[in-house]
Amino acid sequence: MSRLPPLPNIQEIIRFYKLRAIRSLSQNFLLDMNLNKKIIRKAGNLTNNVVIEVGPGPGGITRAILEKDIDRLIVIEKDKRFLPSLETISRLSGKNMRVVHGDILNYSLDTLIPEEFSKPWDDSPSDIHIIGNLPFNVSTPLIIKFLKAISERTGPWKFGRTPLTLTFQKEVAERMVSQIGVSERCRLSVMCQHLCKVKLEFVIPGKAFTPSPKVDVGVVKFLPLKQPLIDVPFLQVEKVLRHFFHYRQKKCYRGAETLFPADQQKLTEELFTRSEVDPFERPFLLIMEEYQRICRAYSDICEQHPEIFEYDYRAPQSLKHTRLYKNSAENQTKKH
Ligand code: SAM
Repeated sequence: MSRLPPLPNIQEIIRFYKLRAIRSLSQNFLLDMNLNKKIIRKAGNLTNNVVIEVGPGPGGITRAILEKDIDRLIVIEKDKRFLPSLETISRLSGKNMRVVHGDILNYSLDTLIPEEFSKPWDDSPSDIHIIGNLPFNVSTPLIIKFLKAISERTGPWKFGRTPLTLTFQKEVAERMVSQIGVSERCRLSVMCQHLCKVKLEFVIPGKAFTPSPKVDVGVVKFLPLKQPLIDVPFLQVEKVLRHFFHYRQKKCYRGAETLFPADQQKLTEELFTRSEVDPFERPFLLIMEEYQRICRAYSDICEQHPEIFEYDYRAPQSLKHTRLYKNSAENQTKKH
């Protein structure tokens, strides 16, 4: 482990640069360096890694990363108030650290990673690691975006199996790791676990943050699997799971019915016949292998009936199949 030159401590940085957390932006700072170091310890071996930190804020986790023998650190921060202090940390650390002003939800991370860090997918995990303590309203859509990129091997996953260590509201973290038959088992559990080994490393009490959120925070580590457990395009898997788990407490056929138009309900039957899954089972009791068969059957049906994937049972009758409605419905969802 390399020693840092004397950096001002995080409280000094905050005072000097007058960095106030803005509650309306859900900014909660983790100022306890023991906890910041614990997050980095749980991330695993970062030696010679390209580390990408999302949402560094005043730089607590950043400092803990800089204590490791990394190849380089790239931090991406949306709030420009933090940029001068991050530049100061970068300069004083004497390490290869780059500060990027950007929004992680639409930033192409692969543009920041040198080609020589590329590894075959089936090799050991890549020497790249993405770490972040983001606001909850960013971390959940972000992990869905990342899971899609993992499934398509794009972005940072063009370079191999890049691990992630991220924070979430504790209840969301628990759902991500929850097993079959457990009451928290949901769409997110299957989405995460079919693509990654997911581990809830530890829980940080809300009161450890400044200002304190009303909830506790889970630190979750994701390592992409060599072989996804559901080998079907991401958006089809996402749609099947969304429909099944919408009726979580009901029998599986109830959610499955909503995948198909009223006049093509024989396809619901076909879905269960092809997959040999019991339509009377409940969605949180299906094993991954059964979801693989259901998603495969849905994908095959979509191939034979290309309009089916576009079908949205909530749309007004005349618009149910149109892409136009789908796009406008998606925009509505994003606004809320
Ligand atoms: N990582 C710091 C810590 O642990 O003390 C700050 C945590 S604070 C909860 C979240 C940070 O993410 C803030 O600095 C915020 O400005 C930044 N942030 C929020 N949305 C972001 C986005 N879309 N892209 C990049 N940074 C973002």
